[in-house]
Amino acid sequence: MSTSQRNIYLVIGGSGFLGRHIVQDLLKRGDSVAVFDIVQRYDDVPFYSGDISDEVQVSQALQRSGATCIIHTASPPHGVEDPALYWKVNVEGTKAVIAAAVANKITKLVYTSSAGVVFNGADLVDVDERLPPPEKPMDAYNESKAKAEELVLAANGQGGLLTVALRPAGIFGPGDRQAVAGIAKVLEEGKAHFQIGDNTNLFDWTYVGNVSHAHILAADQLVPPSDEEIKARAELLSVALPS
Ligand code: NAD
Repeated sequence: MSTSQRNIYLVIGGSGFLGRHIVQDLLKRGDSVAVFDIVQRYDDVPFYSGDISDEVQVSQALQRSGATCIIHTASPPHGVEDPALYWKVNVEGTKAVIAAAVANKITKLVYTSSAGVVFNGADLVDVDERLPPPEKPMDAYNESKAKAEELVLAANGQGGLLTVALRPAGIFGPGDRQAVAGIAKVLEEGKAHFQIGDNTNLFDWTYVGNVSHAHILAADQLVPPSDEEIKARAELLSVALPS
């Protein structure tokens, strides 16, 4: 039996575009999966209806599902009218998820962040995860995603919880209701004759199946380091750091 098969997954936001792919991919490899969301779209997996900004509701779903691993993909979509919703769901909600995870001795938390957390409107070429978020965030969505990511990473190690955050850029594929719908709306509104830049702008897109796979791999790899790994890292640090 592999490490992954011993986990029971609670996919938070599992009724959404990415969440549904993660649920289906976990089921395909024979894992036990439950879903927590404000929207019910399932009749074939245990479903817990609730809002992540209510810690009690998250806790109850964890207890009833017997989850050991949380994959947290929930967020309001980019572009909602009330920016305060981003703080409530992404920041306060993620705090509640972390608190419920620690209280219920969950061992793994995988968080879907966004590549937008480091975007400041200027080109980003050859950057990696060491780039900090900009001092002036692009918008309320990205600000809240950056704060949530910070909270998730800071929770690593709390009460035995291991955490990781992934930063997908644009996601496309079956079930998408944002990217292609947005492009179609631009066409419908006759705005296709505008051009921003000189036609050399780049943007990353990833197929939803690959983003789902990345989440599952991240969950699989979220295991405490062995004694040998700790020793090897300590040796590496003693070489890398000036004495
Ligand atoms: P989606 O809107 O399809 O799914 C989000 C799900 O979260 C929905 O089912 C929604 O009902 C649920 N949700 C929202 N608020 C909730 C709350 N308070 N409590 C419980 N559930 C709640 O979005 P998606 O495109 O699948 O995005 C998934 C994640 O990926 C999000 O965190 C998003 O920020 C991130 N992301 C998406 C893209 C993209 O291009 N779609 C790019 C980068 C990052």
